[in-house]
Amino acid sequence: MSEKSTPNRHITPKKKREDGRLDGLLRPQQLADFTGQERLKANLTILIEAAKGRQESLDHVLFHGPPGLGKTTLAHVVANEMNVNIRITAGPAIERAGDLAAILTNMRAGDILFIDEVHRLGRAVEEILYPALEDFVLDIVVGKGPGAKNVRLKLPKFTVIGATTRLALLSAPLRTRFGALYRMDFYEQAAIETIVIRGAGILQVPIMPEGASEIACRSRGTPRVALRLLRRVRDYAEVRASGEITGETAVAALNLLEIDHLGLDDLDRRVLRAIIEKFGGGPVGLDTIGASISEESDTIMDVVEPYLLQLGFLERTSRGRMATPHAYAHLDLPLPQHVVPTKSNQPSLFSPSKSNQPSLFSPSDEATDEDDE
Ligand code: ADP
Repeated sequence: MSEKSTPNRHITPKKKREDGRLDGLLRPQQLADFTGQERLKANLTILIEAAKGRQESLDHVLFHGPPGLGKTTLAHVVANEMNVNIRITAGPAIERAGDLAAILTNMRAGDILFIDEVHRLGRAVEEILYPALEDFVLDIVVGKGPGAKNVRLKLPKFTVIGATTRLALLSAPLRTRFGALYRMDFYEQAAIETIVIRGAGILQVPIMPEGASEIACRSRGTPRVALRLLRRVRDYAEVRASGEITGETAVAALNLLEIDHLGLDDLDRRVLRAIIEKFGGGPVGLDTIGASISEESDTIMDVVEPYLLQLGFLERTSRGRMATPHAYAHLDLPLPQHVVPTKSNQPSLFSPSKSNQPSLFSPSDEATDEDDE
């Protein structure tokens, strides 16, 4: 995905180059170190224990949800728990059927093939993958022209772990080949705090609980964002303060990065302002919003929208996106007469009562699910 107009965005949950260097260090290795996603972990534990008990390879698994929530990390964790090798690839990297054949013929029994962005596999590649996933066979054509022959190769029983941010773009035949589908949700504040404290320990940065809490509440419920903000706040603490991350240093550093107390940055605010100021609050399509602020609609769809939906700042209707009264309140903009608070955009009964902000972690409807454009 392109982030051409916001290259220095600190809260993008998409992977940046600097993240790659530290990923190995910060990545939990076992399920026990993996914080949050309790229900998913419980289900995954059963899946792993059952496969181990039967001494079988694991069923094919699909993780779906917004970027930065730990899909790749979980694939590594599963490989460690199963004590097998893992090979990493991504949908766009497997261009031809032959590329996939080369990967699959090198797999050993029980090995895991992790396919990131699995919704971006080409049609021809997908066709080869179906029998490989279902019957562990590879149908290939040898030779060219009239002499070409179909050959069926037997494959060892391997496991594919797929990851996608766009479940709806996955073709139905591919989706049904995965025996276990797990949706990853944004993390709760407490889980992100634990992740920040663990990360600070690994990076050897002294941190106070208030500092971890400030970073966590601006991290959009996303571990990758939390760990990136931790590094930025560490820089600030080293340059402008004593080196320790206190509540005060965290607030000062995050304010300087223009990340507000709900984790919204300039791009989020520009999207909301565009909907409200240019399109009367909506409904308006994502492509139109993107064009109006010179931003890729993919970036808005993958990175901005899920979080704004989760906050209850956006509503998705069949005619496009609409800003809710919460969005107007957050931006300090007057609510026009025609924007009537509806049931779904009323603040949650269970949201924290001391602020009128919606609860970040109140259950939202398909916040990570797919687009209607
Ligand atoms: P995704 O594949 O969903 O985009 P990743 O697995 O690459 O996300 O995770 C992004 C970063 O967040 C990694 O550095 C990883 O170590 C960290 N991370 C993700 N989930 C957790 C977690 N539950 N506990 C600790 N760190 C996590």
